Amino acid sequence: MAFRSGFVCILGRPNAGKSTLLNALVGEKLAIISPKPQTTRNRILGIIHSEKQKGRSASQIVLIDTPGVHKPDSSLGRKMMVEVQEALQGCDIVLLIVDGSRQFTPSDQFVLEMAKRCRTPVFLLLNKTDLLKGKKQELLGTIDGYRRRFDFREIIPLSARKREGLDLLVHKLIENLPEGPHYFSDDQITDQPTRFMAAEAIREQILIHTEQEIPYSSTVVVEQFEELPKLTRVAATIYCERNSQKGILVGKGGQMLKKIGTEARMQIQKMVGMKVFLELFVKVQPGWQDSRQFVDELDWRRQLENLAGKPDRTKGREA
Ligand code: GDP
Ligand code: MG
Repeated sequence: MAFRSGFVCILGRPNAGKSTLLNALVGEKLAIISPKPQTTRNRILGIIHSEKQKGRSASQIVLIDTPGVHKPDSSLGRKMMVEVQEALQGCDIVLLIVDGSRQFTPSDQFVLEMAKRCRTPVFLLLNKTDLLKGKKQELLGTIDGYRRRFDFREIIPLSARKREGLDLLVHKLIENLPEGPHYFSDDQITDQPTRFMAAEAIREQILIHTEQEIPYSSTVVVEQFEELPKLTRVAATIYCERNSQKGILVGKGGQMLKKIGTEARMQIQKMVGMKVFLELFVKVQPGWQDSRQFVDELDWRRQLENLAGKPDRTKGREA
């Protein structure tokens, strides 16, 4: 049987469980997770490699996790939606993921329209079925409602958090992928540079430990990432928008920054497999979310492009 491969875009509203699904399918923490909107701000590649098995071809599924679909009101929001559009371009299958425990709303219709416009097969994933135990009728009703709205290639109820329903999903993905090349080497599971994942690990701790507008007003830039023989040195700056936010991020006697730093350091240590020395700074950059230039500079793909002086090859494929 031929080798099958392709690009699969995970699309959905904020909080549907896209990043949880990516991590569960790849079996590694590639994307940060939180119940707060804007947790995912970039598209994130995760690669599933599978060997030839009984009745199954060997395959490579390139998943693309995306920011939640929303109406943007800042440069950052617009950039996030561009990330979604770029992920959809040229993908082979769209996974439209919804929170199966919630009612259909106009926002769901908006995302559904985006999926339809791709003209690729669309799988509907009804996530969070763990919240629907004993409510089978409700789930069947939701499935029925969706079925009337669009001719989905597959409708699969699952729980990304409990890892239920994933085998069936992978099976159906492989079945629907075309014959294709190895897009990535067999040991590669993401395209994200480690230093960007380190920045995300710090941002995840900000999402966990701060409230209100602070998670949305913050971003993290890794200024130094030096891998020494026995130690990785990381220096990063947390940007926020106001002095009052800086006060909260630093905390009384530096307590908050210490907490964020300690937990992020442990995460980064897991990632690099060695001791990490992490230095964190907090800076105020008023209105950064509305600065197109600042937002563009945060994009690691663009940073790499500028360094290499050539176009981004992860954006799509040559026909
Ligand atoms: P995203 O914004 O679509 O990427 O969503 P995340 O993956 O960040 O998840 C949003 C929230 O939903 C987090 O609190 C997750 O733990 C939670 N979540 C994701 N999948 C499931 C699931 O299958 N069941 C339940 N109960 N919660 C889930
Ligand atoms: Mg996400």
